[in-house]
Amino acid sequence: MYKVGITGGIGSGKTTACKVFEVLGIPVFYADTVAKEIMIKDIVLVAGIKSAFGKESYFEDGKLNNKHIAGIVFNNEEALAKLNALVHPAVFRAFDAWEETIPQNVPYTLKEAALLFESGSYKMCDTTILVTAPYELKLKRVMQRDEVSAEQVKARMGKQLNDEEKAKLANHFIVNDEQQSIIEQVLTLHQQFLKAAETHKP
Ligand code: ATP
Repeated sequence: MYKVGITGGIGSGKTTACKVFEVLGIPVFYADTVAKEIMIKDIVLVAGIKSAFGKESYFEDGKLNNKHIAGIVFNNEEALAKLNALVHPAVFRAFDAWEETIPQNVPYTLKEAALLFESGSYKMCDTTILVTAPYELKLKRVMQRDEVSAEQVKARMGKQLNDEEKAKLANHFIVNDEQQSIIEQVLTLHQQFLKAAETHKP
């Protein structure tokens, strides 16, 4: 099946764009949400995390000890790379399993991932979209959505690849500023993907 990857910086509006695709009947795989789920449910992944970061990575009731893991990977690139090396392949497996459940008459699927480019996940997509928005607007939107301070948002933003780097790898763009309609841009891309999916040979 034709696969479209979609990404963007924090607060760029990638989830908002995905909701519009969903209205058009396109199934969306939310990689970041799935990653959180499988860190609790995927027994291979759970075993890998315990072995890498200790048994205390999980509470007795099976819930993830976010504080413990964050404490290890925060400002430790090697540990973060280790965690990603465990989580990303598990998310790829979950995506493959999810795709198996999608009916054949669906023209294409969308994979939303904050780290689409960083994780290498884009290589498994037929095409990619980068959602961008002006810095100040992203800051304002995330502060409102998450009820956090500008400093907290900036710290999260600082950990991501910047848009210029992502743009080099992206095939399509959605500009989510206050001038251009996100709905119209999604509709245009949808038409392009329908055509591409028709001629797509796996
Ligand atoms: P994250 O990486 O943090 O998950 P995201 O890229 O998925 O962010 P969204 O959650 O889609 O971003 O958008 C961030 C916030 O901005 C949300 O509260 C959303 O409702 C709002 N927002 C996004 N696009 C628009 C828009 N065009 N007009 C008004 N509000 C918007």
